[in-house]
Amino acid sequence: DKLQLMNAQEERIFVSIRVRPPNEKERARNDVSEWECVNSNTIILKHSLPERSLYPDAYTFDRVFGCDGSTKQVFEEGIKEVALSVVSGINSSIFAYGQTSSGKTYTMSGITEFSVRDIYDYIETHTNRQFVLKFSAMEIYNEAVRDLLSADGAQLRVLDDPEKGTVVEKLTEETLRDWSHLQELLSICQAERKIGETSLNEISSRSHQILRLTVESSARNYIGPENPSTITASVNFVDLAGSERASQTLSAGVRLREGSHINRSLLTLGTVIRKLSKGRNGHVPYRDSKLTRILQNCLGGNARTAIICTISPARSQVDQSRNTLLFASCAK
Ligand code: ADP
Ligand code: MG
Repeated sequence: DKLQLMNAQEERIFVSIRVRPPNEKERARNDVSEWECVNSNTIILKHSLPERSLYPDAYTFDRVFGCDGSTKQVFEEGIKEVALSVVSGINSSIFAYGQTSSGKTYTMSGITEFSVRDIYDYIETHTNRQFVLKFSAMEIYNEAVRDLLSADGAQLRVLDDPEKGTVVEKLTEETLRDWSHLQELLSICQAERKIGETSLNEISSRSHQILRLTVESSARNYIGPENPSTITASVNFVDLAGSERASQTLSAGVRLREGSHINRSLLTLGTVIRKLSKGRNGHVPYRDSKLTRILQNCLGGNARTAIICTISPARSQVDQSRNTLLFASCAK
């Protein structure tokens, strides 16, 4: 029974919330301090308005971080464990979810760096095994998958492999030489990532980005053809597209098409996560979007999952922040 309880806990999706500090513009117009983290698990809406009273004003999660919380703290308290499971052969996915300019990219790039540093630290102290680290990066834009490590811009196909599960065909996989090699690859990804300007008047990211680190390890001193101690697993760092609805960007044409795709991927992710958090009974619709298909092996089953939901501190963004918290509530 105790073991079962432990397993059940391990299967849970870890959900944390991070409030971005107010920026200069928000400070200047005093559009700040709507949210308060009253303890390490609970976030409340400070100035509850009558028309909002239909919604809860207090939300509880595994961890909540106010605007004085550092990325290191966010990492150490919950995320690290999920990321480091990769060295033990357990797949994992770590998501940043939230509206544009709420801090997804800021948070996820820090989390990625801390994770890889700790994985390298682990490798250095576990000399009885030998490790190979591989890195790949992709972007999903309009339900099309692109390799962020290849300049040719070709669309990649997602295939079902009877042994490996879902695979992205022809995806570049770089074997990491060292830490600085990773830095190099990360800056290539950054340059490759598509960005678009929306009428939210901020540079908005309309695509999903998946950075994937695969760790292979095997016992040293094994002599023979196929080392039976070899284990392989991947950790995925997923920087999701902005969660705001397309209608709110007052965009048209291509933007709306993008918007509907983004909503579809996020919607499917939401459904998949809801199903998984409920103990994954019944059909999990991984196949309904590229994002969930690509992550299928690393989401559910024995895989570990963490979601960091980022919200803006601004009063003017309360409805968006509440949508994010409602999404987060469905995942826990
Ligand atoms: P998103 O990826 O959600 O669109 P960004 O990560 O680009 O948002 O963040 C928007 C801006 O806010 C960036 O200039 C970023 O540096 C800044 N920012 C976000 N989160 C934080 C934070 N926790 N502390 C300091 N600055 C932040
Ligand atoms: Mg971003």
